[in-house]
Amino acid sequence: GRPAPASSSHAATSPAPGDLLAARVRTFPLVQEHYYDAPPRIERGWRHHLLDTDGRGYLDMVNNVAILGHGEPRIAAAVDRQLRRLNTNSRFHYAAVVEFAEALAARAPEGLDQVLLVNSGSEAVDLAIRMARAATGRTDILALTEAYHGWTVGADAISTSLGDNPAALATRPAWVRLLDAPNTYRGRHRGPDAPLYLRDALDRLAHWDAEGVELAGVVSEPIFGNGGGVLLPDGYLAGLWDAVRERGGVCVSDEVQVSYGRLGAHFWGFEQQGAVPDIIAVAKAMGNGHPLGAVITSREIAEAFAVEGSFFSSAGGSPVSCVVGSTVLRVLDEDRLQDNARVVGALLGDGLRELCDRFGALGAVHGMGLYLGVEVVRGGPDAPDPRAAREICAALLEEGVIVQPTGDHKNVLKIKPPLTIDAPAVERFLRALEGVLAR
Ligand code: PMP
Repeated sequence: GRPAPASSSHAATSPAPGDLLAARVRTFPLVQEHYYDAPPRIERGWRHHLLDTDGRGYLDMVNNVAILGHGEPRIAAAVDRQLRRLNTNSRFHYAAVVEFAEALAARAPEGLDQVLLVNSGSEAVDLAIRMARAATGRTDILALTEAYHGWTVGADAISTSLGDNPAALATRPAWVRLLDAPNTYRGRHRGPDAPLYLRDALDRLAHWDAEGVELAGVVSEPIFGNGGGVLLPDGYLAGLWDAVRERGGVCVSDEVQVSYGRLGAHFWGFEQQGAVPDIIAVAKAMGNGHPLGAVITSREIAEAFAVEGSFFSSAGGSPVSCVVGSTVLRVLDEDRLQDNARVVGALLGDGLRELCDRFGALGAVHGMGLYLGVEVVRGGPDAPDPRAAREICAALLEEGVIVQPTGDHKNVLKIKPPLTIDAPAVERFLRALEGVLAR
């Protein structure tokens, strides 16, 4: 045991261990508590519907992790079967794992056929950074602004989602950001001057050349997820990736949020930009909420990285997670969910744009398919009042609809429901939002 503390005064005023635990559980800063006074306690779900412990139902408009929705019986059956067969990985090839890796590689562009499995998006991004470094023998990583890449030390170092907003940064204690993002390009990528931004990014790279920056590669989302679902200007990624490759760097697409058909028109986010990466980092939807992430890359990069003993994740890509992964891919096809994302996403986008025309509190609608962001602009577009988005979310919760704000200013309603969502649910959501805005 640990030695007793030198001073006994602490012990005299300390709560009993049970109280301490209860207090910690209550005060642990759950994300939800930033948005709601009394967040619901969710007990179960069916597709895009949720039920709390008081029996109240909700429409889940934010769960891009559960891409197939909740309670999917084909996943339950696959997990049950695999748990009884073999549920852990060690150092061999396992049938369920190889099957999944092959199914995943079959979805990737030609030449990207090496799959390394991990447990999360953060790990996948971390691994991609290390692979870029291994492949180039260099260290510096270019990251773009308004991006979140994960919470491990490596992924956090290149996350910039608060980077452009000093007021928001100032509210974060130092320990939240132990590492600064070195060589982060902080230019902006949206708005009417979009073509200029690529020029701006290329100028920055040229400036770094002069400074002797050792560019290992670039990591970026193909769409600004944390920026509120903002699409990159046409040709941006292709232009940037060409410039990075001319310098010998490796291009990584963080597909954690926007892949798996969520965009409707595309399976991967980078397809929307007509560009092909050297490394794909993916997670979230691929496991429908189970711990599963992957890096997909070329044999050349994989071999540069895979020195003996360089990588081993005990639970990463377990046979159970892998049968979930295979089932997700199968159900996406069986239920034509990417088509659904396109058709229902168009309904949702049209409905939101119509509300934007009618209500001054709403600004632009961003994104595509079932990956949309609506700006709440009360207070003006340059200094939006984040309380407005929060109030809308709280009022929607009262109506049984779950939406949460995102973006540098936390003023964007991010709408990314399970791909099972249908036209009646979209209609219910739009009428609930209309009612809240009218009030
Ligand atoms: N990259 C992006 C773009 C993300 O949105 C996230 C999670 N929100 C991550 C990486 C990290 O993924 P995970 O939470 O699975 O570690």
